[in-house]
Amino acid sequence: MKLTLQIQLFPDKEQAELLQLTMERFNDARSWLAKRAFELGVANKVKLQQLFYYDLREKFGLSAQMAALCIRHVGGTYSRDKSVKPVFRKHAAMLYDSRIMTIKSACRVSLLTLEGRVIMPFVMGKRQQERFNLAKGQSDLVRRRDGKWFLLATVDVPDKTPIPATHFIGVDLGVVNIATDSDGEIYTSDKVEEFRQHYRKTRRSLQKKAAKRKRTGKRPKKIRRKLRDLSGRERRFKADTNHCISKRIVEKATGTNRGIAVEELTSIRKRIRFRKAQRDRMSKWSFAELRGFTEYKAKLAGVPVIAVDPRNTSRTCPECGHIDRGNRLVRGIFLCRQCGHFDHADVVGAINIASAAKVAWQEVAEPQLEKAA
Ligand SMILES: [Zn+2]
Repeated sequence: MKLTLQIQLFPDKEQAELLQLTMERFNDARSWLAKRAFELGVANKVKLQQLFYYDLREKFGLSAQMAALCIRHVGGTYSRDKSVKPVFRKHAAMLYDSRIMTIKSACRVSLLTLEGRVIMPFVMGKRQQERFNLAKGQSDLVRRRDGKWFLLATVDVPDKTPIPATHFIGVDLGVVNIATDSDGEIYTSDKVEEFRQHYRKTRRSLQKKAAKRKRTGKRPKKIRRKLRDLSGRERRFKADTNHCISKRIVEKATGTNRGIAVEELTSIRKRIRFRKAQRDRMSKWSFAELRGFTEYKAKLAGVPVIAVDPRNTSRTCPECGHIDRGNRLVRGIFLCRQCGHFDHADVVGAINIASAAKVAWQEVAEPQLEKAA
């Protein structure tokens, strides 16, 4: 499975300026070369090298390796579709391969810039480090809008052979609690709610300010940038939270012969009739992302994930099987009208998802086993 490792770099101020300069120059060179290639209709790397290598070195001050990398990349990009002229943004990701980047130690990397190599610290977890060794040696250097620098490395990680699951952890996704599992663990935090409130408030006030500026004829550029930064921070906070939740769920399943059962994504939205405030929250939490994270982490750990149709999962009694809308009279509470069983409503949902998964799994797995025998 292909994964992208995100490695944060810590250049000092001078180094950061150099990185930025190098990135801008490299992108200028790429755009310039792309224009030439497009005009001449040449995508062949050897030909481009013959024609423009010295220009790249002299005009743009690229080192030999950078010029070669620029030619290879532009040639490759252009040859994929000759009807478009490739354009590179000023701060588009810069390529670093093993010729211009060296990992010096567990926490130092050397990157070639316009003024020679600079060595700077980076942070990588142990897991990331093992995976980084699998990288094919090419990374993208990116500068985030908030000024932080990252190397993005694509690695090919071998999947673990899936374990034969006998049981499932059911995961119920929801509005109030982001996720609840059938062991009764609830994944939510005041912090999530606090962040949500904070972002909503700040966003609203910025939007108001921007509108006011616009009415008075001023360009709300700064405010727009602030809004963009804010949405970036919010997105990262949610991604972090989703990473934590999915990690925890997969860890719980690993080594217990349990798979993970989730509900089909399309039905999550349909399932709950949202009040407006809830809809607002709902649209802003990415369940698709949480699901995606859970799936890839599970795949790496060899834990099977199956999706089930969640019909009736919220109104079926896990004790006696009685199905009744009336089992859910009080918000957040499940109370069986037949046997009196009662529990947290989301936990009941998760338990039912787990049992539905077990049934679905047997329907698929058992005929296959019989065939094999
Ligand atoms: Zn019951």
